Amino acid sequence: MKQRTFDLGDVAPKPEAPELPGPDSLSAPEGQRARVLLPVPALGVLDYKVPDHLVDRITPGAVVEVPLAGRTATGVVWDSAVDGGPAEGGKKLPYGKLKAIEGILDLPPMRQDLRRFIDWVSAYTLSAPGPVLRMSLPASAALQAVPVKRHYRSTGASVDGVRLTAAREAVLKVLADGKPRMAPEVASLAGVSDTVVRSLEKTGLVEGLDISVDLPYPQPDANLDGPTLSDEQATAARAIRDKVWEGGFAPFLLDGITGSGKTEVYFEGLAEALKTKGAQVLVLVPEIALTSQWLDRFEARFGVVPVVWHSEVGQAERRRAWRAVASGEARVVVGARSALFLPFKHLAFITVDEEHDPSFKQEEGVMYHARDMAIVRAKLAECPIVLASATPSLETLVNADEGRFEKLILRERHGNAVLPEMRAIDMRHEPPEAGTWLSPVLVREVEDALAAGEQTMLFLNRRGYAPLTLCRTCGFRIECPSCSAWLVEHRFRRELQCHHCGHVEPIPEACPECKSEDSLVACGPGVERLFEEVSTRFPAARTSVMTSDTMMSPSATAHMVGQIASGHLDIVIGTQIVTKGYHFPNLTLVGVVDADLGLRGGDLRAGERTYQQMVQVAGRAGRAEKPGRVFLQSYEPEHPVVQALLSGDGDAFMAAEKESRARHHMPPFGRLVGLILSGPDMKDVLDTGRMLAAKAPMEHGVAVVGPAPAPMARVRGHHRFRMLVHTKKEVRVQKLVYDWLMAVKAKKGVRIKVDIDPYSFM
Ligand code: ADP
Ligand code: ZN
Ligand code: ZN
Repeated sequence: MKQRTFDLGDVAPKPEAPELPGPDSLSAPEGQRARVLLPVPALGVLDYKVPDHLVDRITPGAVVEVPLAGRTATGVVWDSAVDGGPAEGGKKLPYGKLKAIEGILDLPPMRQDLRRFIDWVSAYTLSAPGPVLRMSLPASAALQAVPVKRHYRSTGASVDGVRLTAAREAVLKVLADGKPRMAPEVASLAGVSDTVVRSLEKTGLVEGLDISVDLPYPQPDANLDGPTLSDEQATAARAIRDKVWEGGFAPFLLDGITGSGKTEVYFEGLAEALKTKGAQVLVLVPEIALTSQWLDRFEARFGVVPVVWHSEVGQAERRRAWRAVASGEARVVVGARSALFLPFKHLAFITVDEEHDPSFKQEEGVMYHARDMAIVRAKLAECPIVLASATPSLETLVNADEGRFEKLILRERHGNAVLPEMRAIDMRHEPPEAGTWLSPVLVREVEDALAAGEQTMLFLNRRGYAPLTLCRTCGFRIECPSCSAWLVEHRFRRELQCHHCGHVEPIPEACPECKSEDSLVACGPGVERLFEEVSTRFPAARTSVMTSDTMMSPSATAHMVGQIASGHLDIVIGTQIVTKGYHFPNLTLVGVVDADLGLRGGDLRAGERTYQQMVQVAGRAGRAEKPGRVFLQSYEPEHPVVQALLSGDGDAFMAAEKESRARHHMPPFGRLVGLILSGPDMKDVLDTGRMLAAKAPMEHGVAVVGPAPAPMARVRGHHRFRMLVHTKKEVRVQKLVYDWLMAVKAKKGVRIKVDIDPYSFM
C-alpha cells in the first residue's frame, strides 16, 4: 500500500490488503459484490461479497455488518449495490478474494439524499468519507435491536382453578386498570415480591408483554395558536410558509434586530411543515446547552418539547432519537451542528438560528461549517432553509445581496421594547482605580440599576481569574509545559489551567523559576476577578458568574438562566456564553468591560466578530418594558467597530467590511485554505512545510504563504506550522490542494490538516 502521506489519502480509498483465497473461492462462480462505506478514517469504500440469502436485501443505504481486520464492523452499502465498479482509485479485487457481508441490521436504509450529502461534505472538506459517515451513525450498540422490558397487565379473564392468595389478589387489584407495568413497580404497589407478579403469568389472569425501552416521542401540535404577529413579522412568516408549503430548495436570510421576534417567525414555517404528514424539521442552534429558554418557548407554542441532539445527550437517548429521526417519528429536532447528519426520513424545513455564530464551524475531525453544509443539505433534501440572525455574517449578507438568498427584514423590537442606548466609556479619561476594572462611570450605572431593582450584565470574554501569572521578582511567566500558552488562574478551583490542552496544576506558593515566596501576581482580569471586584463594591447584590466553567451541563445552565429570568440575581458576570439568544425581561444594564479585547491581534474577521458579539450582548438589555442601556469600556472608542456600535449603523459597518474584503479578494470574494502541519519534531514539521512550499501550485490567481510558525506554535507538545492558500473565487481549491498534497510525502510523524474556508488562524 502506498505510504499515506496526509490526512486525506482516504479520498481515493485503497482496497483492503488481499488475503490468500481458499481453494473453494477460486473455483466458485463470480457472484454479486457490494461496495460498503465504513465509518473508519483510514478506509474508503470496500468491496464485499453478497451472500445468496441477502441478495434481495442489499440495496444502497442498507446498514450492514461486515468482517474487518478480525472483527465485525458496521457500514453502509454505498452507490450501486450490485456488482459496483472498483472503489474510486483502487483496483477491483477478484471476487474470490472478497469477504462476505455478515448480515443486515434491521434499520431503514440510509436515504440517497443523506448518502449524497456525506459524499458532498467529504469532497468539499477534503476529508475521508468514513469520518463523515461516522457523524451519521450512532455508536454501534445503538444500531442493534432495541432492548425490551417485560411488562405485565391483566387479561381480564376469569380462570377457574387458580388459587388466589391475598398477595395475588393485591397484584390483580393493582393491574385492574389494564395498564402494562414492570414487575418491580407492581410488586411495590401491591406490597408483594416480584415473583408473585411473574408467577401470575402462567395462570392466564395476567399476560406478559415485551415493551421497547424507547418510549415514543410525544407529537407536536401544529394547530395551536401562535402569537398575533406584527405586520413585518407576518410578511416574513408568510414568505417562509409559502415556500415550505410549496417545497423545493429555497434559502432565506431572516435578518432581524435582537428581540424582533425571529423565533416566532420561523416557528410559523415550522408549523407549516408539521401540517404535512410525516414532514420533519431541523433547527440548528449554536450551543445546545443554552437552549432551555428556547425549549420552553417551543413547548408553549407546540405543546411538547422537541427531540434534542447534541454531544451531551446520553447513549440511550441518542439511540432513541436517532431511530425516531430515521423512522420519521421525530418531527422536530433541535440540535447542535452534528444534528445535520441525522438520517431524516422526510426533511422539509431547516432553520439555522444565530447563523453568524463561530461555533458552527467544527475545528476538529471533519472541519466543516454547519451553516454552509446546512444549505447543501437543504438543497439535496429539496427544502427551504432559514438563516436567522441579528448580525448576519458577511458571507450570508453577500449571498443575499447577490440574490442567492431571499432577504427578510425585521426592523422593530416586539411590543414597546426599543433597542438599548449605547455609550462608550473612554477609559483614557475615566480610568478605573488601580487594581480594578470598572470605570467610575459604569460603577454609578450599576448602583442606579441596583437601586431601581433592575438587573445588570457585565460581559468579559475571559474565563478564570487572570489570564497571566507573573513573578514580580524575576519576571517569569507561568506557561503550559506542552503548549505555547500562559496558564490561566482559576481561583475558585485553586488551580492554573491551560485552555488549549486542559493541563492543570496547583497555584504554586513560590516562583517556579527564582523560588521567591509571595512574588507571583495575577495580571489582567478574568470573570472571577471581576466577580471579586463586584462583590467588594456591591456586597448586598446577588451576583453570579456564567461561563463554561460554571455551566457545565444543560441542567446547570437551565438553573442559572431560570435564576436570572425569575429575578433571583442582580448582577450576572459572563463570557460569550451569555450573549446568545437569552431573554431576561428585567435586565436593563449591560456593561462591556473590555470592548477592545477581540480586536487586538485580530484576524480577517476580528472586526466583524467583535461587532456581532457586542450587538448580541447589547441585545440582552431592555428586551421588555423597561429600556436598556449599554456601556462599552474602550481605550480606543474611535475604532470603526465601536463607532458602528454607537451610531447603530451596522449596515454601514458591514458595507465597509465588505468593501475591504472585496478589495483584498478575501472571503467571500476569494478563497482561503489553511494547512496546519504538526508533529513532535519541529525540524520534521518545518521540512515538510518547506517541501510543500517547493511544490506549491503556481497558477495564476493562486498564492501560497508559509510555512510560518502558528500563533499557537505548540499544542500538547506538538510543534505547529501554518500555510495559507489564497485563491481567486473561481478556483477549485479542493482539486488544487488535493493534487498538491498528493505530490509531497510528509516526514514521518507529521500530520497535515486541511482547513477549507478557515475561521481560526491560530
Ligand atoms: P429574536 O429571536 O429576534 O431576538 P424573539 O423571537 O426571542 O426575538 O422575541 C423576543 C420576545 O418577544 C420573545 O419573548 C417573544 O416571545 C416576544 N414576541 C415576539 N414577537 C411576538 C408577537 N408577535 N407576539 C407576542 N410576543 C412576541
Ligand atoms: Zn521569579
Ligand atoms: Zn497546554
